[in-house]
Amino acid sequence: MYLISACLAGVNCRYNGGNNQCDWVKQFMKDKDCLLVCPEEMGGLSTPRPPSERIGSKVISKDGQDVTDNFLTGAEKSIQKAEETAAELEQEIAGN
Ligand code: SF4
Repeated sequence: MYLISACLAGVNCRYNGGNNQCDWVKQFMKDKDCLLVCPEEMGGLSTPRPPSERIGSKVISKDGQDVTDNFLTGAEKSIQKAEETAAELEQEIAGN
């Protein structure tokens, strides 16, 4: 299974409410099990939202908020979701 950034698949979850749709990614996904995730949203950030950047060990939004915990939480939830989905797929395959 492949974990794909949702915005690359055309989901409007970027900070500005848009996406980064990538034809190559959509082509890649056609014949594979893929899970779309947006760790920023999964970490509790809204869309649209101020853009953020990593500064040292922190992630700071353009309006000065420390959103490090949101990014860490979103990454953890993404991994957890991937593990749950992989386990479900394994059960489906084993049941066939
Ligand atoms: S966190 Fe969301 S908006 Fe940011 S790159 Fe990943 S999928 Fe795209």
